[in-house]
Amino acid sequence: MKILTVVGARPQFIKAAVVSHELRKMHTEILVHTGQHFDYNMSEQFFEELNIPKPDYNLGISGGSHGQMTAKMLTAVESVLIEEKPDWLLVYGDTNSTLAAALAAAKLHIPICHVEAGARVHDKRNPEEINRICTDHVSELLLACTESCYKEIKKEGLAKRGVLVGDPMYDAFVKYSKVKKADGMKLKLLDGTERELPEQYYYMTCHREENTNDDHALTEILKAMEMLGDKTVYPVHPRNKQRAGRIVKQFQFKNIILSEPVGYLESLALLNNALGVVTDSGGLQREAFFAEKQCVTVLDFVVWPETMIDNRNQLSHPIAGEIVEKMHRKMTVQPGYRPFGDGHAAVKILEQITEQYVPVR
Ligand code: UDP
Repeated sequence: MKILTVVGARPQFIKAAVVSHELRKMHTEILVHTGQHFDYNMSEQFFEELNIPKPDYNLGISGGSHGQMTAKMLTAVESVLIEEKPDWLLVYGDTNSTLAAALAAAKLHIPICHVEAGARVHDKRNPEEINRICTDHVSELLLACTESCYKEIKKEGLAKRGVLVGDPMYDAFVKYSKVKKADGMKLKLLDGTERELPEQYYYMTCHREENTNDDHALTEILKAMEMLGDKTVYPVHPRNKQRAGRIVKQFQFKNIILSEPVGYLESLALLNNALGVVTDSGGLQREAFFAEKQCVTVLDFVVWPETMIDNRNQLSHPIAGEIVEKMHRKMTVQPGYRPFGDGHAAVKILEQITEQYVPVR
């Protein structure tokens, strides 16, 4: 079969890294990069490090409002789909690239496989929620990472098309976690200099619209990190560089290390060696859980309920005192509790794609 995969953002490259290799053992893949993430350290570095096949198409679309970006992607992906006539469209997660590709394929009657289906935060102020819901409802095959995602699929009347396969992010974590060591790692700082990784540190990321639209939330999060007493390594998403630099300078925070975004292998090494994690990333909060690191997620909503037990991952408002207090709560880890599958989600994804193909809708 000919499968056309559309990716555009960092977490999708990571999932494609495990799924594409599996896919190409049996089928032909046409890989399309929308261009949503385009900096070297947000895109190309992932393709190089993880040996992801070079995209067949790079649409070069990024920036603008949600509507502008989605519209441009929709038009461009439609042309590629018409040209390539694939048997399936494969999409991951919840970005504008996911939604645009799904809409284009649905109108052309190309069956869609959505990996990471059924994730819901039940809050439409979260821009990705719209992308998740719309993509699921036009997809033929809804592949869920966890029981809770599968339940959401059922609740929305989509159970016939849903299958629980596990989380390819967990596959990637298992596969790549030991590749790079934190020892001797050098961090490229935002001011252009380099420094050694400190022995003890917290790992922080923050880039969601909800936390970066004004100074308030990020200032509180950075205050919390300063209050924790140890260093914090914060690889800054390009969207946030100016704001983060300005706040750290203004408040003279001594413990915050602002670095350029790191590659995936470095991110895992940073995580595995960290004291704890503070983030608003859907991917990093799951990885903190996989690595058994305590996590505080600065968001208003639960994305991955399975992680929210035994103080392993707690929601916090962007309030410094609350973040610190939650990070200091005692965490426990129940051995054998593995809600994200067995590390073989990619194989199961391919089984489903192969078995469930129906030529005409
Ligand atoms: N990550 C990375 N480099 C960084 C920060 C994060 O490789 O500088 C990885 C992280 O380990 C996780 C993924 O990027 O696997 C999460 O992506 P992101 O936070 O951009 O998106 P989200 O998960 O929130 O959709």
